[in-house]
Amino acid sequence: MRNSEAFEAASAVMPGGVSSPVRAYRAVGREPVFVERGEGPYVFSIEGRRYIDFVMSYGPLIFGHGFAPVVDAVTDAATRGTTFGMPTQAETQLAERVTSLVPSVEVVRFVNSGTEAAMSALRLARAAAYGGRGASKIIKCIGCYHGHTDAMLVAAGSGATTLGRPSSPGVPAALAAQTILVPYNDADAVDRALREHAGDIACVAVEPIAGNMGCVPPRPGYLQKLRELCDRDGVFLLFDEVMTGFRVHPGGAQALYGVLPDLSCLGKVIGGGLPCAAYGGPASVMRQVSPDGPVYQAGTLSGNPLAMAAGQAQLDALSLNNAAAYDRLETLSARLEAGLREAAAAASCPIYLTRVGSMLCVFFVNKLGQEVHDYDDATACHLGRYTAFFNAMLEGGVMLAPAAFEAWFVSTSHDEAVIDEAVAVAADAFTAAAAVR
Ligand code: PLP
Repeated sequence: MRNSEAFEAASAVMPGGVSSPVRAYRAVGREPVFVERGEGPYVFSIEGRRYIDFVMSYGPLIFGHGFAPVVDAVTDAATRGTTFGMPTQAETQLAERVTSLVPSVEVVRFVNSGTEAAMSALRLARAAAYGGRGASKIIKCIGCYHGHTDAMLVAAGSGATTLGRPSSPGVPAALAAQTILVPYNDADAVDRALREHAGDIACVAVEPIAGNMGCVPPRPGYLQKLRELCDRDGVFLLFDEVMTGFRVHPGGAQALYGVLPDLSCLGKVIGGGLPCAAYGGPASVMRQVSPDGPVYQAGTLSGNPLAMAAGQAQLDALSLNNAAAYDRLETLSARLEAGLREAAAAASCPIYLTRVGSMLCVFFVNKLGQEVHDYDDATACHLGRYTAFFNAMLEGGVMLAPAAFEAWFVSTSHDEAVIDEAVAVAADAFTAAAAVR
C-alpha cells in the first residue's frame, strides 16, 4: 500500500489519522510517514524506504530499535502471560533497580504513561503539601510538558498560551487558574510566585532539562535555586524526568546536576519501549499513596509483566560494564553535535545547538549569537527554516521529529558511520534552510 493510501485509510477512522497529534506532519506541511518496522538506528517505511531515525519513539529507545535483550525478555514474559491483575516479582525487581539508580526515589509506583505519572504525582503533592494540610496551586514552567492531564495542560509546549489559560478546550478555566506559570530558567519568577501564593502552592513542577520546547538545559544554579526556594517555603519540588530519566545519566538529571527533588516522574527509557512510567520519592511521601495512605491511584495494566520485563532488560543493559552505554552515547552524540555545527557553519545557517548527553536540539535562530533558554527564546526561532531542514533531511533519508520543539535522540545503535551519513545529509539540509528568508 502506498503511504498516501495508508494515511487516507487512517484519517477516515482516527483524528488526523494518528494516535498522538505530534505524529501528524501538519507543522511541516506533509503527510506522516507510515512505518513498517525498525532495526537498530533505522526505521523502514511501508514504501520500503530506509531512514536514519533520531525520533527514537521520542526517547524510550536508548539502544535503538529491536534491541535483542528487550525483545527476548518481552517474548519470554509473553509466553507466561500478558497481564494478571495480580502482583508479580517482576514489579519488585524493576522497582529495586529504579530505587537503586534514582537517588531521590525510595519507593515507586508504576503506571502506564508519563501523563499518568505526572497526574498522580501532582495529586500526591496536592494532598501531602504542608505536612498533610494540602494545597491546590502548582507552579509550572511555560513550555514544559508534563503530559495532557488537565492541570498540566497549561502553557504546555509548542501549542501553548500563557497566563494560566488552558492549552486546550475542555480544560476548565477554574482548574487552569490553579496553575501558576513562570518562565523556564527563571528562579526569581518562582520566588515571586511562591511569595504571592504563600501557603497555597503544592509543588513546583519542572523538567530538569526542558525537552518539549526543543532541548533547553537548565542554566547553572537554576535547579539548586529551585531546591532552596522549595526548602525555604516547605513546598514539594517535582522533577518530571519522563524524558531525562536514565537517559542523561543512570540516575537521571537529578544525579547529573546533584539536585534532589521530593517527587520524580519517570517514563520512556524505564519501559524499554513498552507502555510504562512511574512516580516516586521518599518513603514518607510515597506511603501516602493508596493502599498505604489515602491518596487514590490505580491501574488495570500498571506494572504489566511485559513492560516490567522490557524495563528490566533495558536498565540492566544500561548498567552493564560500569554503565559503558553512557560513554558510547556521549561519544556518538558529541560526534553528531560537532558534525552539525560544522555543516551549519559551512552553509552559513545560523543555529543555536543544545545538547545534554544523547538529547540534542538544533534551533534555527535568526542570527548567530542568539541563545535559547526559555519558551519565548524557542518560539522566536525561524520555524520556516526548521520546516525546510526537516523536509530536506527526510528526503535525504534522515527522520527527525516533525516539529521544531522536539529533542533529537541518539541511541547506542547510531554508530559513527550512521552519524556521519546523517551529517552529510544535514550539510545540504542546512543550505536549504538558510535559503528560507
Ligand atoms: N513528561 C515529559 C517531560 C514528557 O516529555 C512527556 C512526553 O513526551 C510526558 C510527560 C508525557 O508522557 P506520555 O506521552 O507517556 O504520556
